[in-house]
Amino acid sequence: MDYYYKCSDCGNTYAITPERMLCEDCSSKQETGRPLRGILEVEMQGKLADCSSIYSVLPIEKKWFPEIPVGNTPLWAPKRLQQKHGFSNLLIKDDTRNLTGSFKDRASWLVSAAALKWGIRHVTVASTGNAASSMAGIGAAAGLKVTIYVPGSIPKAKLVQSLQYGAEVVSVNGSYDDAFRMAMKPDSSEKVLNRNTGYNPLTIEGKKTASFELCHQMSNTPDYIFVPTGDAVVLSGMIKGFKDLQKLGKIGRFPKFIAVQARGSNALARAMEQGDFSEPMKSETIADSIQVEVPACGYYALRELKAHGGGCITVSDDEIRQAQIELSSQAGLFTEPSAAASLAGLLRMKAEIDPEANIVLLASGTGLKDIENAKEAVEKAGRTIIRKEVSDD
Ligand SMILES: *Cc1c(COP(=O)(O)O)cnc(C)c1O
Repeated sequence: MDYYYKCSDCGNTYAITPERMLCEDCSSKQETGRPLRGILEVEMQGKLADCSSIYSVLPIEKKWFPEIPVGNTPLWAPKRLQQKHGFSNLLIKDDTRNLTGSFKDRASWLVSAAALKWGIRHVTVASTGNAASSMAGIGAAAGLKVTIYVPGSIPKAKLVQSLQYGAEVVSVNGSYDDAFRMAMKPDSSEKVLNRNTGYNPLTIEGKKTASFELCHQMSNTPDYIFVPTGDAVVLSGMIKGFKDLQKLGKIGRFPKFIAVQARGSNALARAMEQGDFSEPMKSETIADSIQVEVPACGYYALRELKAHGGGCITVSDDEIRQAQIELSSQAGLFTEPSAAASLAGLLRMKAEIDPEANIVLLASGTGLKDIENAKEAVEKAGRTIIRKEVSDD
């Protein structure tokens, strides 16, 4: 197979090189405060005999990938949750089980392989937390130096996790969107590969692996896939995966993707409603991993959602807290608030969805990554600790 980049806006093609991030023409028309113009998609050319190995559909050869457990996460049926909410074919794609505890490992894994292939030893990334801790951990396993740019508000566990892995941590006195810009201009004389989500096309490509797994794990194409959405790169990557699968003749119809956003960070939902992105609004939610003012992959996701009959739904922080507790106490799956947004989105749409539909909830990050908000959720739910004095007898 031959691989190259193709601009998702104008169709220009480019070779896959470390410097190439966006389409030259389209990115020159970038407006401030809007999603990235000129997002590049990886295109495959040639005849694919067999896509049973994920490596055969990725643009970097297998030998460059660090040998670590990334992807191949379980897809399982949460029986009590199914019964309680009346969805008999509800499944969870459990990406909390990745090496660093989040879906982001899929992108970090491909970017690490590319860095090793290109002989680049240093990777930078801006992140609200998970992309940082993911790149730090996967980079550590691959022997790369990693510099992360994070907003001051990052949950403590994600910060400590990154320091454990040995990353250089730059805490930016500003928002994630500010950190995103700073990571593009690292103070470094050596060659650096940028892993900013959406900006580096390999981040989208790496995330498509989840869709190939779903295709192998299920006998039917899912009717609905609920994806917690901030920058919309997880969503775009999974859609890209199904586009590839369709081209390869592996699926008959396209699943309906539902992007779930927090009410206080709903740029994509607003764009779906209004037809285009407007001035960014200040974002606020407990679901830090989906808190974004300008979604990097916004234009791409908006177009693809529309093209494939997808939708967007917003949920409140309280609904997210309740969904988090629901997943923990009905399924034994402790997720971070952003990951619980998938279930919150499904419950909000309950009336419109056929109880027999094949539904996949993406669980994108583990609950241990954000103990503060988990604690608040149990307190709000009235879960108390029984305190006892030790008696003498
Ligand atoms: C990054 C992330 C998301 C959302 O991904 P985007 O590409 O920003 O939309 C959802 N959940 C978790 C746990 C994440 O880390």
